[in-house]
Amino acid sequence: MLIYTGGTIGMRQDPTDGALRPVDFGQIAEEVPELRKSALRIDAWSFDPLIDSSDVEPALWQSLATLIRDRYDQYDGFVVLHGTDTMSYSASALSFMLENLAKPVVFTGSQLPVGAPRTDGRENLVSAIEVAAAKDAGGHALVPEVSVLFDAKLMRGNRSTKVNAEQFDAFSSPNHPLLAEAGIQIRYNLQHIRRPARWDEPLRIAGALDTRVSILKIHPGITPQVVRNILLGPETRAVILETYGSGNAPSKDWFLKIVDEAVAMGKLLVNVTQCLRGAVNMQLYATGKALERSGVVSGGDCTTEGMLAKLFWLLGKYSDIREAAPHIGENIRGEISE
Ligand code: ASP
Repeated sequence: MLIYTGGTIGMRQDPTDGALRPVDFGQIAEEVPELRKSALRIDAWSFDPLIDSSDVEPALWQSLATLIRDRYDQYDGFVVLHGTDTMSYSASALSFMLENLAKPVVFTGSQLPVGAPRTDGRENLVSAIEVAAAKDAGGHALVPEVSVLFDAKLMRGNRSTKVNAEQFDAFSSPNHPLLAEAGIQIRYNLQHIRRPARWDEPLRIAGALDTRVSILKIHPGITPQVVRNILLGPETRAVILETYGSGNAPSKDWFLKIVDEAVAMGKLLVNVTQCLRGAVNMQLYATGKALERSGVVSGGDCTTEGMLAKLFWLLGKYSDIREAAPHIGENIRGEISE
């Protein structure tokens, strides 16, 4: 099943102001004759309205999850056409929301509209469909998880991140090997693909997400006022601290005092690194140790997108932060290396 949410892949230049805006699915089908020639049965479903993925909200994730659950038994796999800007956020969110997933949900999109002569959309789409339909000798899906297919690379969704705003090679999976690579053939790295404990469990959608989570990117010159606003905001239950290197933040008294105050207020503070590769290790430097002493929890090598989705999901599940905290470092959907 092909689900179209919007994004550049299906956009066309609006003659009035030259900006790219999404157009209906018919345009994609016209530009990709492979869809009609395919031996696979492909049904398409379009969201209304179609959006630029910068407008994605958790409500869209909920609609997507519901659609996949409702059609789950009718299809071998699902391809989600989505804008690239927030694709990793959406793929991360769906990876947590879809419980007992045993079929492929492959996100893809493109950097150039599918109607453009040098488009990357056609190949991305055709490869994503092949992945969504691929089965092993026993008839089970080869990639029964939420993934992102882009520029011939298949990545775990909650390990992917957008790294390039202009090249076709726009996504990376910095801390986890690729699930597959599409060359003349699609080569699957089976040892890195997650398989469900049971294949026949009904697909369930997690309960409501709790989005009372903020992200604070640490930088030289950050002021007490900004840190206070984000860490102590009454509407925030958890904050992702995007720290330097292996999980370091300023060691100044004022900073650590605000961190202590946030923890004392019962907020969950999670440490992820600003670096693209590698993991948080709060044991390495005094600055990291100070954070750990204050009760900041390590986010390991999880991406910011993956941790945001995990927190939305965990906070939705647990009304008590103390119950959610021990799961931060736990590998739940392959999002973190233990
Ligand atoms: N702004 C677009 C979107 O995310 C970019 C893209 O699709 O590549 O919807």
